[in-house]
Amino acid sequence: MCGIIAYSGQRKALPILVAGLRRLEYRGYDSAGIALHRRGRFATWRAAGKLSQLEARLPAQSGAKCGMGHTRWATHGEATDSNAHPHHSPDGRIAIIHNGIIENATALRGALQADGAVFNSETDSEILAHLVAMHPADSLRDSVRLALRQVQGTYGLVVMDASRPGELVAARNGSPVIIGVGEREMFITSDANAILTHTREVVHLEDGELATVQARIFSIATMDESMISRPPVTLDHSPEALSRDGYDHYMLKEIEEQPEAIARTLGGRLDRQFGTAHLGGLNLSARELRDIRRVRFLGCGSAYYAGISGANMIESLARLPAASEPAAEFRYRNPVIENDTLYIAVSQSGETFDTLAAIREVRSRGGRVLGICNVVGSSIAREVDGGVFMHVGPEISVASTKAFSGMLACFMLLALQLGRIRDISPQRGDELVEAIGELPGLIRNALGESPRIREIAARYHGASSAFYIGRTDAYPVALEGAQKLKEISYVHAEAYPASELKHGPLALIDPDTPTLVVLPDNDLLDKSLSSLQEIRARRGPVIAVTNSGREDIHSLADDVICSPPCHPLLHPLVMNVGLQLFAYHTAVLMGRDVDQPRNLAKSVTVE
Ligand code: GLU
Repeated sequence: MCGIIAYSGQRKALPILVAGLRRLEYRGYDSAGIALHRRGRFATWRAAGKLSQLEARLPAQSGAKCGMGHTRWATHGEATDSNAHPHHSPDGRIAIIHNGIIENATALRGALQADGAVFNSETDSEILAHLVAMHPADSLRDSVRLALRQVQGTYGLVVMDASRPGELVAARNGSPVIIGVGEREMFITSDANAILTHTREVVHLEDGELATVQARIFSIATMDESMISRPPVTLDHSPEALSRDGYDHYMLKEIEEQPEAIARTLGGRLDRQFGTAHLGGLNLSARELRDIRRVRFLGCGSAYYAGISGANMIESLARLPAASEPAAEFRYRNPVIENDTLYIAVSQSGETFDTLAAIREVRSRGGRVLGICNVVGSSIAREVDGGVFMHVGPEISVASTKAFSGMLACFMLLALQLGRIRDISPQRGDELVEAIGELPGLIRNALGESPRIREIAARYHGASSAFYIGRTDAYPVALEGAQKLKEISYVHAEAYPASELKHGPLALIDPDTPTLVVLPDNDLLDKSLSSLQEIRARRGPVIAVTNSGREDIHSLADDVICSPPCHPLLHPLVMNVGLQLFAYHTAVLMGRDVDQPRNLAKSVTVE
């Protein structure tokens, strides 16, 4: 969601900014723009729509060595050319790009207009350019600081002043800002993926900090003018991880790389000698882990659904009451925070605004929060008391696949570690370590069904609605399966616990509405088959998703997505792979923009 890239150095800025914006595209955006600083003035181009629309307006080349680019995800004002960033002060001296939301925009705009200010856009962001220009000071950073004192809201902000060649000022509050340190050149971005081809040396700004960045130096200060010294850290992922590698879509690449990705999640964390798992970053002693009485997962979207699986795993292995809740709901309902509850925030990007806000709510009330994230150095990773990285590599496709699996793999490890500390025997621990170690191979087998799943998708992709049902452990699989389908194919898809079907949704079953029934090989199989029969009796088409060898499933269902048999703890992760492929093939058959579905953003950094 929304992206920032800025450059100051010895090279021509324009191609670097365009390539950076391309790298940011995956996050989702609706318009884009670039401003270059040249001979004491700004040259600015903006365009609604895809980056190609902006590129069509850009000059073939420019000698400018400093500039900035933005991909906007509209919050205030439609996605139009004039609302796209960069925005300028009325005298043209100040240019800004902004991620986030200015919450007191209406009041600020009203006050400025009362003084005669004229705005060229409907955005909240343009106000920032006016405010910076209204506060002349010795340095641009001081002007920005004075302007921001009037502002409430969130920002990742870059400001340029036409009278200060080669200088960029950045500020952060609630929206990521990263400085990339190169050889006689510097970058500012909201997402390290945008600059990885140039440098892996980065410095993360914290909330309430401002930075002045020039080609050879940068300095960081707080809003109250204290200087901060922070050396760069080296990022560990390589730019190759960001290429499509010959795949038609990032989503398919990310689905197919799950065996290796999950092997990395598990790497070094399974202890075969003691039949347990070790998650080094928890920062909790065995005694502190044993004192936990409850676990609550907090996440948004797929991370929330993953949390439901995680809660099931913790209940089953550690026998602790556990639940998952949407992070935004949690933070606004005045939750009871307990000392002996372990709160676990789950987010691929580590920047999800609502999840971050929920963490702050828990911590401000003295609660203990662990984070499960993919992006090292992300806001959530830095704000929690301890946590686990998934290490599944950069996920570019908006619809999460390998990160969802990475979350489930982390939960298995956590459930095993908690379980062994509480009441799992060493023998059962060994058995679980053995089973979890098989995950990469099982996922590889599940992927082998892709051609058959494509054939099945081809039989149903005309449907305008679909149901997904499952019981207990299979219910979050159904939820995530439906989520994938609606995200990328725009087919209306709903998930229900199979037992709920006859309490309402059965009214909607008809010959045009397929139901995907998730049927793990467990004690509830016969009960789930009864639900399947109820759908058949209303002439609803049924696609069974199963790892059971029962022959009757093949005669009862119209189609079967087969999943490899495995330990029950692994069912949700392994069975979900077939549903990822079903959604992917359906979306491709429907000609959808698989990697960048409409209206959605990769990491939701606004409320
Ligand atoms: N609130 C700003 C706008 O609507 C910035 C949105 C974004 O983060 O891209 O222009």
